[in-house]
Amino acid sequence: MDAVPPLTVDTVVDLVNEYSAATRAAADEASHGYPVLPALGDLGSDTDRCRRAADALHAVFADGRGPVPVVNDLLVATGVRPRLDECGATTWVVPDRRRILLAAGTVSLTTWIAAHGPDRLGTCEAHRCADVFVDTSRAATRRYCSQTCLDRARVARWRSRQAASRDQGRSGTAAR
Ligand SMILES: [Zn+2]
Repeated sequence: MDAVPPLTVDTVVDLVNEYSAATRAAADEASHGYPVLPALGDLGSDTDRCRRAADALHAVFADGRGPVPVVNDLLVATGVRPRLDECGATTWVVPDRRRILLAAGTVSLTTWIAAHGPDRLGTCEAHRCADVFVDTSRAATRRYCSQTCLDRARVARWRSRQAASRDQGRSGTAAR
């Protein structure tokens, strides 16, 4: 049994957004290199392992059924389980060291969902972006991964409104 190191949910989000096939393809970055994520430490040393873990964890945010069934499947698949240490604190252990990164991501999302509920994980609605996010806003209405995507979507909406009103103006002239 290997102890699973703690990962913050922000690190899991970074792993998914930088390494999953879905997010890279949406951003036209499938052929780009993979950045080193310092927060992963030794867990991030194997690029293939990062990619496989990121693909599996992406489904937690993107699956139409919501995150719960996907997380439960990952808990079973990784075999990760809680154990009490000498001081009575909960630690997590995994039977197969090759699954330790996926297990760490799964534990991070499990504890986050347990604290914040299952309705605050999502994928960006911006054009050409499939990045994932956790919604920490009070109203839980987040739809975009970042301020950049929110701004891009606002500009796109404004442009399409402008185009629509121009078209209306033109058809109005033609009708006269
Ligand atoms: Zn985005």
